[in-house]
Amino acid sequence: MTGAPFIVADGLTGHDSVTVPIEGVLLKEALIASAVARADAMIVVSHFKGHGLAGFGGAIKNLGMGCACRKGKQIQHSDVKPRVRADRCISCRRCYRACPASAISMAGGKASISPDSCIGCGECVVWCRNGAIRPNWDEGAPGNLQRRMAEYALGAVAGRGGKVGYVNVAIRISPDCDCGPVNDVPVVGDIGIMTSLDPVAIDRACSDMVVAASGVPGSACQHAGQSDDKFKAVHKHVDWSVQLAHAEAIGLGSQDYVVEKLS
Ligand code: SF4
Ligand code: SF4
Repeated sequence: MTGAPFIVADGLTGHDSVTVPIEGVLLKEALIASAVARADAMIVVSHFKGHGLAGFGGAIKNLGMGCACRKGKQIQHSDVKPRVRADRCISCRRCYRACPASAISMAGGKASISPDSCIGCGECVVWCRNGAIRPNWDEGAPGNLQRRMAEYALGAVAGRGGKVGYVNVAIRISPDCDCGPVNDVPVVGDIGIMTSLDPVAIDRACSDMVVAASGVPGSACQHAGQSDDKFKAVHKHVDWSVQLAHAEAIGLGSQDYVVEKLS
């Protein structure tokens, strides 16, 4: 038996993309990884979990960010480039170790970010537990990253005649994204595996179920009660509903859903 081939969709250097026209509010084109853009159909399998900049990551984020080429990812993050508050930095070097772009130096014992090297991924924001690094929301309306992400998702599904299916794996729901070097314990218990033909409906359903679940003792949500917003409890500055509302407004899908349980 052979497995599925692993393909780097935007090529080995991250530059292989197709420019897809979109009718977004912020963007009129999306740079989609060429292997994705040329696929006849897609099954989008996403781990549903928290995220430091988007509140949560699910199908919309997997489409928008995951299907963009390297430059497309940077365009979506363009407002985010964070700043260091030196008075709060305790020189722990967590951000320095987490930065995928080697944009952080520890000259003088405090973290310092090179704006020229920073790709705005937000990893340092997540890994600083001292509140010393905050996204630079001043340069763009809060939520613009989520809006761009939803618009890129529109580009990722364009021209496929609806031949896109979604699987959200809502188990081990961690507070932060999977791409960091470490993560914390899950914030709620396992919910299950969801499938849908609508990326907005499946993300809405998963987020509603996470909010409705009880926080796991010992996790970042241990004090959050049932029906408290678990993602907001972890990422206080992020309104994750923006990605859902914007995705719906631009025609990516609908927040309406009905859950059918298969046993
Ligand atoms: S993670 Fe925060 S406290 Fe630690 S070095 Fe970086 S900025 Fe300073
Ligand atoms: S946002 Fe990303 S690239 Fe920029 S300094 Fe932080 S970790 Fe590095």
